[in-house]
Amino acid sequence: MRIIPLLLPTPYPVGPVNAYLLPGPPVTLVDCGPKTDEARAALEEGLRRASCKFEAIERLVITHGHTDHFGLAAAVAAASGARVYAHADEVPKLVGDRSFVEPARTLITEAGFPSEVADALFNVWRSFRGHLDRIAPTHLVADGDRLPLEDGSLEVLHTPGHAQGHICLWDGKTLIAGDLLLEEISPNPVIEFDLEGRRLHTLPAYLRSLHRVAALEPEVAYPGHGEPITAPAARIAEILRHHHDRKERLARMLAGRDWTLRDLAAEWFPGLDLRTLFLGLSEVMGHLDLLEEEGRITIDRRGGVLHYRVAAPDGG
Ligand SMILES: [Zn+2]
Ligand SMILES: [Zn+2]
Repeated sequence: MRIIPLLLPTPYPVGPVNAYLLPGPPVTLVDCGPKTDEARAALEEGLRRASCKFEAIERLVITHGHTDHFGLAAAVAAASGARVYAHADEVPKLVGDRSFVEPARTLITEAGFPSEVADALFNVWRSFRGHLDRIAPTHLVADGDRLPLEDGSLEVLHTPGHAQGHICLWDGKTLIAGDLLLEEISPNPVIEFDLEGRRLHTLPAYLRSLHRVAALEPEVAYPGHGEPITAPAARIAEILRHHHDRKERLARMLAGRDWTLRDLAAEWFPGLDLRTLFLGLSEVMGHLDLLEEEGRITIDRRGGVLHYRVAAPDGG
């Protein structure tokens, strides 16, 4: 597969995001950056250098509904008439569904924060909304779907975890990885809820997605951020090890006493601010989910706040 990386700036701590141009046919863009003047200029310039115009894009594939990956999608579609592909589970984010607000508020209170923290957090999120235009995909893709490209096709892999409807694209050798696999940072499975407001176990799902992709033995992976990953298997093993170590460290912390999610996050990530708080909470929550699925912790609700501790041994 011919693949041309386009590096686009973002206003987020993660740094620049990668879009990928697949010259096709059909001319395909995978992800497209946030809706900022800087990202748009960089996208236009990158396309120009690849002798491609905005208007020529026939297909836009969105790996997942995080603003840095799709904020410009509506602008690209409007300029080009491109068909827009995404997984059904990402549609709520792409169209700006607000059903997560109430369960997120509950989570913040159950974590042990006063309700003003939830208000402040929502204000920060509202400010991010300027970096995207809502978009309804014209085509919903599911695991195993094939997108024709040049003489062959790309397979859609549904890889939930970092986002519930996250997808990768796979041609049998090369993986377009979105945020499933990053070289420099371990992708954060962000707290998410289903449309009924139930919280999803995003880190366990993410680890299953990693195992699945490892079994495909990709030769190279093109990530959502950073340089191409030339030894994907080694990187996956490293990420799996990282999460295993963190899970065990968390189990050791929980052995001494009861903890709230707020206290655990403060202990793990001193100096969290409103921009990073939800990511920090997500990181800790994910590892609590792993321990819970292994039956190693108990969770008590006291005064509307959840307390975590190591489960008593069997029969104890
Ligand atoms: Zn992401
Ligand atoms: Zn990203």
